[in-house]
Amino acid sequence: MDEFIKLLNENLDYVDHKIIDGVCYITVSSNRKAVNCPFCSKTSLRVHSTYKRTFQDLPIQGHKVIIILLNRKMFCDNPECDHTTFGERFEFLPSKAKKTHRLEDEIIRLSLNCSSTAASEILSKNVVDVGKSTICSLLKKRKACN
Ligand SMILES: [Zn+2]
Repeated sequence: MDEFIKLLNENLDYVDHKIIDGVCYITVSSNRKAVNCPFCSKTSLRVHSTYKRTFQDLPIQGHKVIIILLNRKMFCDNPECDHTTFGERFEFLPSKAKKTHRLEDEIIRLSLNCSSTAASEILSKNVVDVGKSTICSLLKKRKACN
């Protein structure tokens, strides 16, 4: 399981997992010692607190996957920075996102050749619970990028 988590990001450590109603919940934590403030880039070693951030990732062995990240809130000690604290960020997960980039890629791949209604049905069976409107907005977002 740790290998699967490291594929997502090498700064994540596997903590534990449980399967409830066919959904695999994986708890992970960060192994970074120092974290850079996203606002001023200064390095911080001081942890303010930890909070849970949940998001969906690729399925494992037919189980939908929800990752529970024990996300850290850090202090920024730079007196010139506008922020005294900040949440640790990861490039695989845009801030506020509920799905990883690699899961979004998979949703798009499976949705390209069928209607969003059909895609939603197929995906909800064993990949991820995703609505038709989310699929449409993902497709639109990516087309805008290309
Ligand atoms: Zn800062």
